[in-house]
Amino acid sequence: MARETLNSFAQQKLDDLEAKSLRRRFVDTDRLGPALAGRNGKTLISFCCNDYLNLSYHPEVIQAAQDATARYGVGSGASRLVTGNHPLFRQLEQRLATLKQAEDCIIFGSGYLANSGIIPTLVGPKDLIFIDELAHACLFSGSQLSGARHFVFRHNDMGHLEDLLKAHRETGGHALILTDGVFSMDGDLAPVEALAALAKAYDAWLMTDDAHGIGVLGEGRGSSFVGGRKIDVPLQMGTLSKAIGGYGGYLCADQPVIDLMRTRARTVIYSTGLPPAIIAAALKALDVIEANPEFAASPLKKANRFTQALGLANAQSPIVPIVMGDADVTLAASALLESEGFLVTAIRPPTVPAGTARLRFTFTAEHRDEDIDRLAALVKEKILIKRAAE
Ligand SMILES: *Cc1c(COP(=O)(O)O)cnc(C)c1O
Repeated sequence: MARETLNSFAQQKLDDLEAKSLRRRFVDTDRLGPALAGRNGKTLISFCCNDYLNLSYHPEVIQAAQDATARYGVGSGASRLVTGNHPLFRQLEQRLATLKQAEDCIIFGSGYLANSGIIPTLVGPKDLIFIDELAHACLFSGSQLSGARHFVFRHNDMGHLEDLLKAHRETGGHALILTDGVFSMDGDLAPVEALAALAKAYDAWLMTDDAHGIGVLGEGRGSSFVGGRKIDVPLQMGTLSKAIGGYGGYLCADQPVIDLMRTRARTVIYSTGLPPAIIAAALKALDVIEANPEFAASPLKKANRFTQALGLANAQSPIVPIVMGDADVTLAASALLESEGFLVTAIRPPTVPAGTARLRFTFTAEHRDEDIDRLAALVKEKILIKRAAE
């Protein structure tokens, strides 16, 4: 009986999603090269991978992972507080702290686990959170877990944030301001400098999620360093799962904050340490990035080749969205590009707000100019012109 109600509950949910073109499915996708995907027996050029520097395929990065596996084994065996703290963690944390010009750093199992652990460690029910409406889902998850009262400000709207701070800051204990440094589905940057100024003025702690900034912006240092100087962000969070080419999350901050995470962040304490291979790979990836700032800047250049070909505003990051509106129109556009040999996944609600389903293009160091040009021409002729005519 209970099994039947369980299954019919799930089936009903699925049917509802299907009817709105919002059901998602895994599609087996082979990696055939840095920017090549194999799907349904076809080779596609992928413009939807966050491996911006293609480091997941870098021979030295792969070698480092293999060597670490041979030396330390596949899994880390336990939480880092028990026996899972192999010596590579310390090295990587120091490297990341140096890159971000912070006192210290702590690695988490993933970016999602980082945000789920950091936020409840810093604020609780008596405190306040101010969060950008387009911030990543895991910043909202962490906020909910914390039990803090939270106020959502309009995307990048500093006037709105200040209004909320004015109205509510005094009603709570501590206050945390949360934003993406680079917005994952829009590719635009947060006004980090203005955020830092408001945070100071209202005694709030600023945390940026730099998942899409590290490795590719500010000479690889991320969104707090765009424009060549450091903006004072006391909580710099990010992931190793995108431009770093592997997996994992991190927080860079001052010593007491990191020490507090080591002893209180639940997603560190109660979750197994990352596999040694992934830490060794990240160390090697940072070597590659630091040795070659021009390489780190190349995905943004490629993105701008695309925006220029289409007469769009300059890209601020390697992410370029083209908002289509309806989910089914977006799915059709994605299918059309796939039939022409390009993989560009349709992004639909609830990942993005209702009515803003979009194609999201990501550009990587290894994309060839001629492929970008062919993609831009296709988008222009078969998608944008057609849409304008409707
Ligand atoms: C991808 C992403 C995350 C999650 O990081 P994972 O390491 O993939 O768990 C967090 N925040 C933002 C902004 C992201 O884009």
